[in-house]
Formats: sequence, C-alpha cells, structure tokens
Amino acid sequence: MAKATISDLIYHDEDAARAHFEKLRWPDGRVCPHCGVVGDDQSTLLQGKSHRPGLYKCKPCGKPFTATIGTVYEDSKVPLHQWLLATHLMCASKKGISALQLQRELALGSYRTAWFMAHRIREAMIDTTTEPLGGEGKIVEADETYYGKPAVSPMKRTDGSDFKKTKRRNSRPVVALVERGGKAKVFHVAVADKEAVQKIVAENVHPASRLHTDESRLYKGADALFVSHETVKHSAGEYARGDVNTNSAEGFFGVFKKGMKGVYQHCSEKHLNRYVTEFGFRHNTRAKLGITDTMRTDLAIIGTVGKRLTYRRTDEAYV
Ligand SMILES: [Zn+2]
Repeated sequence: MAKATISDLIYHDEDAARAHFEKLRWPDGRVCPHCGVVGDDQSTLLQGKSHRPGLYKCKPCGKPFTATIGTVYEDSKVPLHQWLLATHLMCASKKGISALQLQRELALGSYRTAWFMAHRIREAMIDTTTEPLGGEGKIVEADETYYGKPAVSPMKRTDGSDFKKTKRRNSRPVVALVERGGKAKVFHVAVADKEAVQKIVAENVHPASRLHTDESRLYKGADALFVSHETVKHSAGEYARGDVNTNSAEGFFGVFKKGMKGVYQHCSEKHLNRYVTEFGFRHNTRAKLGITDTMRTDLAIIGTVGKRLTYRRTDEAYV
C-alpha cells in the first residue's frame, strides 16, 4: 500500500492542509459562498482564539465562511489534514482501503468515524461529467458482472415444505461501460435485464462508437444504436477476434472483485453503488492515463466540492 511520507506536510499539518485545500478550491481567489464575490482582497481572515482556524469574513456581505463550506469535509470534528490523508490513502490504494485500516492509519478512536469518512470520500469520487463514452473511431466495451452470493433457493424440509428461516441473498448486477484506453462508467442496477442494460448503454455511449460485448442476450439489438455492434462468443471459448474483445471491461471487473473480496468483504446492497463509484474513479484516473497518486488525490479533493451525503445529518456525531 502506498503510504504518505512524513514530508507530505498536508497530511500531517492542519495549516498546510488548509492552505492546500484553499488553493485547490479557490484557484482564482477566495469565493464567498453567501454573495459570490471573488478575490482574496474581498475577505479577511478572522484571527484570535475565539475563531475557528481558516474562518474568513466577507467584506461586501459581512458573513463568515471557510473553505470547507459546501463540501463533504464540512462541519467535521476530524481535522482537515486527516481528511486529506484519508483521501490520499483511498486514492493511492489500487483495491481500496478498509475502514479498519483507515482507522489505524489515522489513529482514529472510532471505527464508525473511519467508515463514515470513507463514504464521504466516495461521494467526492462521483463522476459528475455527462459526456458519453466513445465517439467516432472509438471502441466501447459493455459487460456485466454479479457481486455477492447468487440467489439461494429456500431450503426444503424432507416433506418438501420450506423452512421458515430461509436465507435469500441475491447477487447484485454491476454493468460496466469501458472505453478502450479511456474512461469507464459503472452502474449497479437492481435487475440486469435487456431493458435496463440497453437504456444504460444508449444513454452513456456515443452512437458513433463501435460497441463490443459478449454474446449475451442483454445486448441483442444494440447494433441499431451504434455504428457497429461486434461480439465475442465466450461460450465457445472465443475471447478475441481481431480487435473485438471485452478485455478492458473484464480487467476493470478483475480489480473491482479483488478489492471487494479482499479489502471490503462485506457490503450491503444499499452501499454497493458507492464502492462501484470508488473503483470507477480510480480507473478513470489511473496511472496509464498519466495521472499520479498525488494528482488523483487532488482530483478527489476537488470532487468534495458541492457533494452531499443523504444520511450525513443523522450520523453527524460520528465524523
Ligand atoms: Zn459575501
């Protein structure tokens, strides 16, 4: 696992962390979130023990603000340098980092705090871009996988009736669209039927793209949506024909599954989308695209702006 070194001041010093965050959030000078005025000369730092560090007062509107207002780091008891370190650890670990490991690395008193921090950071990793994948001359691979245990039929008594207590754990479908050599968009869907999958494909892949899939019935008829739809027949042992393959999508699922099995282990359906987001973010900012761990961390830090967790208020006490 990539570790932050002592020289990475922003991960160990609150003032350095705040300066770094302010530089990323306000590249053109401080912005007052209340009245929108821009410029470092439009606000003054409120100093003295009665004020929180990093609290500014806007000159035109007179209202106070900090850099973390309106971000997933807002209103937290956890110091900003620890937030940045947690963000870095999640960005630099290829298969993710468990909440338990995060708790240890940050020396946090509570596992719940680490767990909620990780989920807030996943929120920062949400891809808000709306451009479709692919385009003219580009290949987009579509594939699906199932996370979790397959549906178990209820156990039968010897007389054929059902036991009252039956465990039924459904496997959860995940659909990945991966532009070869580019970005991916990944979705957890309730049911992977033809209608749901083709809707996702149609909405997120540029029609000028070449679509590559396996021979699954889920993609039948997709040739009407794209320049071409070519398939490989996995059932017949065919994994590539010319440049037709789904290796990029399978590569993504390989990392996802290793991480979900080895690092996260337990994940309820409710949260699966957040993990899907995390793996998608790292794929889209991977080293092969020329993005370093530091750059990836900065992208996640910028991604904290304007994001909200729906459950954050009720669980505020933990973070
Ligand atoms: Zn203002």
